[in-house]
Amino acid sequence: MRILVFNAGSSSLKFGVFDLDPGAPLNRTRHVFKGSFDRFTPGGCDTSFNGTRGRAPHADLGVAIAAVPQVLTDHGVEGLDAIGHRIAHGGARFTEATELTPEVMEQIAALTPLAPLHNPANVEGVTRARACWPDLPQWGVFDTAFHLSQPARATTYAVPKAWRDAGLRRFGFHGTSHKYVARRAAEALDTDLRELRLISLHLGNGASACAINRGQSIDSSMGLTPLEGLVMGTRPGDLDPGAFGYLHRELGLEIDAIEAALNGESGLKGLTGSSDMRDVEARAAEGDAEAQAAINIYAYRARKYIGAYAAAMGGLDALVFTGGIGENSPSMRRRICDGLEFLGLKLDHDRNMVADLEGYAAPQIQAYGARVQVLVTETAEQLMIAQEVGAARKSPKPAPQPIPVAVSARHVHLDAAAVEALFGPGYELTPGKPLRQPGNWAAAERVTVEGPKGRFDRVAILGPLRNRTQVEVSRTDSFALGIDAPVRQSGDLDGTPHVRLVGPAGSIDTDGLIIAARHIHMHPDDAARMGVEDGDTVDVNLSHAARALTFAQVLVRVQPQAFTEMHIDTDEANAAGITGHTEGEVVPDMHVTTLTAKSTG
Ligand code: ADP
Repeated sequence: MRILVFNAGSSSLKFGVFDLDPGAPLNRTRHVFKGSFDRFTPGGCDTSFNGTRGRAPHADLGVAIAAVPQVLTDHGVEGLDAIGHRIAHGGARFTEATELTPEVMEQIAALTPLAPLHNPANVEGVTRARACWPDLPQWGVFDTAFHLSQPARATTYAVPKAWRDAGLRRFGFHGTSHKYVARRAAEALDTDLRELRLISLHLGNGASACAINRGQSIDSSMGLTPLEGLVMGTRPGDLDPGAFGYLHRELGLEIDAIEAALNGESGLKGLTGSSDMRDVEARAAEGDAEAQAAINIYAYRARKYIGAYAAAMGGLDALVFTGGIGENSPSMRRRICDGLEFLGLKLDHDRNMVADLEGYAAPQIQAYGARVQVLVTETAEQLMIAQEVGAARKSPKPAPQPIPVAVSARHVHLDAAAVEALFGPGYELTPGKPLRQPGNWAAAERVTVEGPKGRFDRVAILGPLRNRTQVEVSRTDSFALGIDAPVRQSGDLDGTPHVRLVGPAGSIDTDGLIIAARHIHMHPDDAARMGVEDGDTVDVNLSHAARALTFAQVLVRVQPQAFTEMHIDTDEANAAGITGHTEGEVVPDMHVTTLTAKSTG
């Protein structure tokens, strides 16, 4: 399979053509063509085609992409099967290579506020490529995707709920690079990635560290945006958020100016005037104190992250250097590693000096007998994108259908007789907080649920009134009450156990104690879009949850006014590690079975 890969930025376009067999080892993929248009200016740009450098009159990304078909023809490259695009920010939704349908493109464009420099260029790259190759499928591979496996404790900022609800969380970037070098390192070590606690240091113009615990990214140094973490060419990495207020008050700087300086004037550039590590190292060697300080700061920050991530994983088996600096600067590699002997990490200084990365090699540079293996390898994001696109095309998965998930704590629905028995003759419940399902509410009143073993006070009453009282608990609750409750659909109450309800005016023993079968309230429009009907069951994958799992046999209840939402109970939520808002995905193309019993609740 032959795949053209684009990495489109606002100031450059890199592209490559790969021949691959998705199952083969990474270093057996054939890199058929390598090209770039660099530093767009009104007067043109630099070019490099298979290593031959030159100039071209192209002033921007659009013109450069339009020139690629001719470049490929001139170099005898034909027979493309698909195009893969590097997409910077895929938010929480895109977990894997995804075909770039118009709907997906809209979602990528909507993520622009999170990656204002990158996503618009990526979107333009896709649009232009589609115009050049209208018949070729276009796929996106997301820099954020690899990090979506990170647990909430790593991705959550300790900020007010309203901010978190607005999307403030850590994502991490360079995911394609970290994923590639981790796989390449495992290959080179001849060890299953699932047996390795590995740290990847991608040190290029942008730089990030990633903790990869047994194949999964569990933490990374970049956050909501690519500003957080390590010192970079022009970005500062970690910075006290208090700096914003301080700079505003003391220097009168507005947000735009601060952000521009954090993106373009900080890091090595801010410390030395040059963002290029080669310059900085050369100046440091000549005795320039600023450059020497910058190198120390750079290495110290990286070393701190190694310590932190070794702690996060409970140990460290391998460290991988990549990116322009990681690949080419033995002195920076040494400076970062020196002093980490306590972790079992020690370099062999000769091996470090001669690391040869030709042909996707991943040489080891640790001292003989050192416990932690240290590797260097050239990152190959384009190759990884080609691999991912190839694999996805071989076993295509239909686009996921996202669905919000709500966790139902124990509650009761009462009939009119129960209200009178519990609260007194003629009593009417007081509608309190409205629920998401239109017309439903939580009453201001509460009730006690009592069993032979235990009781729950202040259990929520949900309105409006039902024809029959129903008490919904989890399996754990049923043990706490001491009554064996069956899993039932809402309203299917014949033969269910009795339980005692206690209110201020009296108590009743009523049947209707159930563990509610998980279900989806679904609006008819969503049902039509997902191709399901009332009474169908579907499988729902909670891939974003901390303990991701798939809930099978979820009942679909199509209701005219429904707010589409899946309801699970607290046991199910705990099993999936759900803490706050989460979304699941209806697994497409599973065999949907229509139940004979339709829902009644
Ligand atoms: P990008 O993140 O834009 O892909 P690269 O991965 O190419 O960038 O990394 C660029 C960085 O690598 C620059 O700071 C450059 O100075 C540095 N670099 C490249 N070669 C060397 C070298 N031989 N010694 C030190 N630094 C190097």
